[in-house]
Amino acid sequence: MRFDVTVLGCAAALPSLNRLTTAQLINIHEKRFLVDCGEGTQVALRKKSSKLQYRMMRIDHVFISHLHGDHYLGLPGLISTYNLMGRTRPLRIYGPPELEGLMRLHNQVSGAHLNYDLHFVSTQTQERTLLWEDATLEIYSFPVKHRIATTGFLFKEKEREPGVSHHAVRDLGLEPSEILQLKKRQDLVRSDGTALAWSSVCTEPAPPRSYAFCADTMYWERVVDAVQGVDMLYHEATFMAHHKALAVKTYHSTTLQAAKVAMKAGVGRLLVGHLSARYKDNEAVLAEVVEGFPRAEIARDGVTYSVPFRSL
Ligand SMILES: [Zn+2]
Repeated sequence: MRFDVTVLGCAAALPSLNRLTTAQLINIHEKRFLVDCGEGTQVALRKKSSKLQYRMMRIDHVFISHLHGDHYLGLPGLISTYNLMGRTRPLRIYGPPELEGLMRLHNQVSGAHLNYDLHFVSTQTQERTLLWEDATLEIYSFPVKHRIATTGFLFKEKEREPGVSHHAVRDLGLEPSEILQLKKRQDLVRSDGTALAWSSVCTEPAPPRSYAFCADTMYWERVVDAVQGVDMLYHEATFMAHHKALAVKTYHSTTLQAAKVAMKAGVGRLLVGHLSARYKDNEAVLAEVVEGFPRAEIARDGVTYSVPFRSL
């Protein structure tokens, strides 16, 4: 089952020709979620839509980490474009409490009459919070440490049930109630008195995967706790190690600090982004990250990264 992250933008404050400001499209089991919406997000989405790989209109949930412009200034444009494209399905937007007022004010002064509903859900920076779930997936916000109120986001698959072999269902004539019991890993005593071990007819499901998004944040132990054991972590690394003082001053992280979070949290794979435009040599940046955490790479705009199964 699909679980991947397309980086639409991963620049720090300044967009460039190669890097847009922050946005990611997350596809989990063909459900699409947008995380942050920097300037240029809808153009990046349209590039993907033209390939029919991603359908921009199928995004029903947008998560905004904080209200620095490089993380949300694309949102008024996206809301407007959805209206022009004839959207009628509601759009749920999760973010800091002030976001709703900003967006509603914009619509009001521009005289926009939306043909679809915007539902705002406020995030908070006290503790981890469940924002949304369905039968297979749950999405949380968690506090990070930045100059203004900011959260990260955690996407987690739920545990799947074991699958019962089709052959067993057919050959043994299993009843629906028996199948339900087997899926709960319970052995059966059938009506004719025979015993049936669940493990003899079931296959273990793939382990659940998880992905955490952390931008922007300075190094903080609570982030380590929040992303503990995730299969893939996106963490900002705005500065190289020799600019550590600058990182502290601006509430950002260095390459080595991003690697330290990944190492201490025992994550499967680390993607770093939000690199300062002052660094022209990505290889030097990557070398520092890999020094602290080997399974790391630098995020690139337009690239899709699959969240791996840890134990397969
Ligand atoms: Zn910021």
